[in-house]
Amino acid sequence: MNDTFLRENYQKIVAQLPATVKLVVVSKTHPAEKIQELYTLGQRVFGENRVQELLEKQTVLPKDIKWHLIGHLQTNKVKTIAAFVGTIESVDSERLLEEINRQALNVNRKIKVLLQVKIAEEETKFGMEVSETKELFQKWLQGAYPSVEITGLMGLATFTTDENQIRREFSFLKHLFDQLSQHKSLETLSMGMSGDFPIAIACGSNSVRVGSAIFGERDYR
Ligand SMILES: *Cc1c(COP(=O)(O)O)cnc(C)c1O
Repeated sequence: MNDTFLRENYQKIVAQLPATVKLVVVSKTHPAEKIQELYTLGQRVFGENRVQELLEKQTVLPKDIKWHLIGHLQTNKVKTIAAFVGTIESVDSERLLEEINRQALNVNRKIKVLLQVKIAEEETKFGMEVSETKELFQKWLQGAYPSVEITGLMGLATFTTDENQIRREFSFLKHLFDQLSQHKSLETLSMGMSGDFPIAIACGSNSVRVGSAIFGERDYR
C-alpha cells in the first residue's frame, strides 16, 4: 500500500511538533492498513475511542503499539482492554478509576491513566469538575488505587472558532496540571486535536491527539 497523502500529512504534522510534545495519532474509524502504514514510518502511539474497534485493531496489528483509549469508557468494558491498553486518557469518574484498579490487579499490571477534566464552557463534553479531579488525585496519592498510575490530565476545549476561548480553557487545565504537579510530578498534559493543537502547545500541552489532519476528514464522530 502506498498512501502518499497519508504519509505527507503525517510528516507535516510531525514537523510542526516540538521535540518535547508527544503525538497520539487518532485512528478511530480508519482501517488497520492505514495504521500499519504509519507504523512503518515509526509511529507507535495510536488513539481509539471505542472499545470494540480497539480490540479488532489490536488483534491484527503489531504488539508494540501503545494504544490510548481516548473516548468515554463504560466500566463493564474495562476488563476487555486491561491486559494490553497503554494509557486510558478518559477517566471521568471515581467508579471508572476503581474498576480500572480492580482489573489491573486481575491481570497483574499497573495501568496508566489520565484524569479527564471538563474545561469546555459548553455543556456537552465528558470530564470531571476540578473539585472531583483534585479529590480523586488526593485519594490516589494516599494509596487508594495502587494498580493505577495517574500520569497526567486530559481535556477537550470547546469546538469554536473563538481562539481566545480555546486559549482560556487550555490555560485553565495547565494551571490545574501545575497545581497537582506540586504534590507529585506529572508527566502528561494531553490537550489539542487537529483544529487546535498549536494553541494547546502554546498553552503547555505536551501530548496532542491528532486524527483528521493526518487521515483527512472522517465521515462521522
Ligand atoms: C476524535 C478525537 C480526537 C481527534 O480529533 P481530530 O479533530 O480528528 O484531530 C482527539 N481527541 C478525542 C478525545 C477525540 O475523540
